[in-house]
Amino acid sequence: HSLDHEHILSGILRCPLCGSGMYGNVNRKKKKDGTLYKDYFYYACKHRRLVDGHKCGYRKQWSEEKINNAVEEVIRKLVKNPKFEEAILNKIGSRIDTEEIEKEIEGLEKQHRQLTGAKARLGQQMDSLDIMDKFYEKKYQDMETRLYRLYDEIEGVENSIEEVKNRLLNIQQQKISEENVYQFLLYFDKLYDKFTDLEKKEFLNSFVEQVDIYEQEQPDGRFLKHIKFRFPVYFGDRETQELCWDNESTVECVVKMVHF
Ligand SMILES: [Zn+2]
Repeated sequence: HSLDHEHILSGILRCPLCGSGMYGNVNRKKKKDGTLYKDYFYYACKHRRLVDGHKCGYRKQWSEEKINNAVEEVIRKLVKNPKFEEAILNKIGSRIDTEEIEKEIEGLEKQHRQLTGAKARLGQQMDSLDIMDKFYEKKYQDMETRLYRLYDEIEGVENSIEEVKNRLLNIQQQKISEENVYQFLLYFDKLYDKFTDLEKKEFLNSFVEQVDIYEQEQPDGRFLKHIKFRFPVYFGDRETQELCWDNESTVECVVKMVHF
């Protein structure tokens, strides 16, 4: 009985009152003859967050099917945009600009070579100090102090190199997951309906960051208020990462424009 069911937008859908994630639930009821009614899956607020000092009191239960369908419909619309395919293909083929970060690594590695070179030379000087020199002890101590400073500097540079390399890796990984999502979006219409609930959930989690709804369905039947994506999408001929639906009109408005 609905064993394969996944609450696809659990945590992504936000409570319109307190803003925390709404989670999937199931209503499983027995008929008088002992057989089960069809499972009813719904999203609801867990009432964990306080609003004005009180636990959030949003009680409405939203049908999962209804919300999921509406979000999927938005994505279907996005991918049908003729500009979309062109923009996505450009995006996939494009190289990420990591020149600056690579220069930074190069600079740090050069610094590292200079410091280790200085350390080696200093070591040789210390070895070749004349033990009969009357300032031997003082000279040796001075050199030792310089040596310790060099060790500190080398360690600092090594830490910086590691930090910058991690930053580069993150950028590259972000690019890979972005490309996977875009690749999939190109075939969204053909693939999505064949997905299991789990695959749908995984895909939507990698693409959609947040879905906001109105407290109640609007008189014209709308209830989606705002969707935030993890990656830029194409709307009309604009690139954007968020879509919102104006309260006054049915016309979608695009927020947070990105130059495209
Ligand atoms: Zn709430």
